[in-house]
Amino acid sequence: MRKNIVAGNWKMNKTLQEGLALATELNEALAGAKLNCDVVIGTPFIHLASVVAAVDTKVIGVAAQNCANKESGAYTGEISASMVKSTGAEYVILGHSERREYYGETSAILNEKVALTLANGLTPIYCCGEALDVRNANEQNAFVKNQLDETVFNLSADDFKKIVIAYEPIWAIGTGVTASTEQAQDTLAFIRSAIAAKFGQEIADGTSILYGGSCNAKNAPELFAQPDIDGGLIGGASLKVADFKAIIDAF
Ligand code: PEP
Repeated sequence: MRKNIVAGNWKMNKTLQEGLALATELNEALAGAKLNCDVVIGTPFIHLASVVAAVDTKVIGVAAQNCANKESGAYTGEISASMVKSTGAEYVILGHSERREYYGETSAILNEKVALTLANGLTPIYCCGEALDVRNANEQNAFVKNQLDETVFNLSADDFKKIVIAYEPIWAIGTGVTASTEQAQDTLAFIRSAIAAKFGQEIADGTSILYGGSCNAKNAPELFAQPDIDGGLIGGASLKVADFKAIIDAF
């Protein structure tokens, strides 16, 4: 079901104690507030169970930032989707450009991760987005479409309905350079049209598509006012409650 969502991605930041303090402060800031979006925080694995216990999960959903592409067994250091589920987390961020770039995540690996996430009743927040050279060549639509074709467009319509898409141009992540409102809207509209072509208009209209990349309190109101932008995946600005709350309040 299409919803407005503001999702934080803490990346590899915050000790357990710092993360718990951040989650508790956010929980207090949102208690009793009238919210026009779902709020999610993507924490490191080791924080998940403690953060779930510390927040009102009816107000703040908790996400892992990754999961293994294997179900269980001799995969030292990996964390399975069922382990994520057992913490009470509800979402898994998958396909973030940092994981694709630094950890070699291919479409084949991501297909396995998406399948395991869905099989464990978790919601994938599936990231896609192009690098600067692709944008400069004006080939972003074909690039993103290919990322989707190789992965989540292989899902059944019933499974596709369960996922959230996050469009994150790599050149805008952590750089302070936000895609212009027009660039973000145009690409999200393109993604929605590609979903419609693949799964039909009803499913396209029901899919939450987020923008990510240097989103902040200043640019969020204009971005979130666009017809195809259903919220944001927020990195740096999710690490301070005042900044994150201001983005939440942009809805
Ligand atoms: C991200 O990493 O998903 C992200 C959007 O980061 P930032 O908001 O810091 O650009």
